[in-house]
Amino acid sequence: MLRAIPPVTSPKSGRYWDYIPLTMDFLPIYLNVRGQPCLVVGGGEVAARKVDLLRKAQAEVRVLAPDLGPTLSKRVREHDIAHIARCFEDKDVEGASVVIAATNDEAINRLVASAAKARRIPVNVVDQPELCSFIMPSLIDRSPVLIAVSSGGASPVLARLLRTRLETLIPASYGRLATLMAGFREQVKRRFSGSSERRAFWEKVLQGSIAEMVFSGRDRAARVAMEEALRSKEGSGIGEVYLVGGGPGDPDLLTFRALRLMQQADVVVYDRLVSPEVLDLVRRDAQRIYAGKESKNHTLPQEGINELLVRLAREGKRVVRLKGGDPFIFGRGGEEIATLAEQGIPFQVVPGITAAGGCASYAGIPLTHRGYAQSVIFVAGQLRDGSVNLNWKAIAQPQQTIVFYMGLQGVDIICRELQHHGLASSMPVALIQQGTTRSQRVLTGTLATLPDLVRTSHVQSPTLIIVGNVVRLQSQFAWFDPDSVSQAAGVAPNAPASPA
Ligand code: SAH
Repeated sequence: MLRAIPPVTSPKSGRYWDYIPLTMDFLPIYLNVRGQPCLVVGGGEVAARKVDLLRKAQAEVRVLAPDLGPTLSKRVREHDIAHIARCFEDKDVEGASVVIAATNDEAINRLVASAAKARRIPVNVVDQPELCSFIMPSLIDRSPVLIAVSSGGASPVLARLLRTRLETLIPASYGRLATLMAGFREQVKRRFSGSSERRAFWEKVLQGSIAEMVFSGRDRAARVAMEEALRSKEGSGIGEVYLVGGGPGDPDLLTFRALRLMQQADVVVYDRLVSPEVLDLVRRDAQRIYAGKESKNHTLPQEGINELLVRLAREGKRVVRLKGGDPFIFGRGGEEIATLAEQGIPFQVVPGITAAGGCASYAGIPLTHRGYAQSVIFVAGQLRDGSVNLNWKAIAQPQQTIVFYMGLQGVDIICRELQHHGLASSMPVALIQQGTTRSQRVLTGTLATLPDLVRTSHVQSPTLIIVGNVVRLQSQFAWFDPDSVSQAAGVAPNAPASPA
């Protein structure tokens, strides 16, 4: 039942902070229904969803309805539930531990509710809170961890939205973590006699690298680390390095795992390519170390970065090595973890959306498309000793999209070589500067016009070059235009590429 909204101020003192409600509308409990007879009245899809939950909780389910829908029929065929094929009668509720009314007939629902209430059997009537003696929450299921969210019937949509938020915060493998830790409870009790010592130990384990090992599927390593932590004097002292892909710029493109690790970091070592909005999501108190890396002007040489990561982890810190895009695509991520592996420092790699994927999506250029391109190749186009040394024959293939990273300086050579190896001078190309961000610029041209386009339009790093027939689709598919007031899908912000 909904309560009247309380006045903002206390009627007695006139102060509003006195008016914190001291009562709850419901008592939240988790009911053990394993093997208990439970009755569901109704045979449709709504009933099927309730049956699903009851079966997950291992209840013995009887469904009462003249006819069953496809989902429940299947369960009956599989001998998973029992079916009573007739209309509801008062005495049907007898012996049930829990009753749920899920018919689309309000009168029947009412009969079920009053029959159950008369016998003090807990009853839930779907979508009719006033008939319920209990309500069912929105659920985040990380069994054995269960998180229930309820607005007490005030706003089920709000409860569902909250649930969605929590879903994103709580790793899917939380259940596995709980199960693993259950196996250590006795050992931890023996190891730490004081309850505050014990709590401190658990907090460290559950928020630290051991938990992260479970989340990334390394259960065996977690078990070993746990045993080690129990043996060592001050509990778990191991640091860990997380090589995290920060994506191309838009913070919305981070993975859940990247965000979680960023919010737990003690130190973050980041590159020039990491956007300020992404960096902003790192835990406020984390130390921030800029590792630079402009192609000419290396702030820290690569070896320096590798050693820095080792040193920080040895100090027991949780280090996030945050890189633009994906760490394993032109990110030198491999070199950084090679040093960690040599030195026996635990690490994990979190993929990010690479510039090619991010820029192509936000520019409206499918990297492959039937009839346009069957393959796509990612190429590092930077100059080395004044030239771009690549296997041009393999790159300049028909029906292949070519994505050049770091290609601005070598643009003259790139265009010349591609034409020399058989691509038409009219082959469409796109330049995408600061893709996926509010400053994104997309320019299109052809292999013949690209070098001039780069000079006259003053494009700057980071810019991605896409070469291929798929660029023709851009004028039709461009949807992201940060400057446009009406961001209508399919309205092209840029001039279409000239047809071949
Ligand atoms: N590891 C990164 C790439 C690093 S190489 C990744 O997976 O994306 C650096 C090059 O990536 C830049 O020179 C540029 O060509 C490209 N790049 C990275 N972010 C970009 C962005 N937001 N827009 C356009 N190009 C980008």
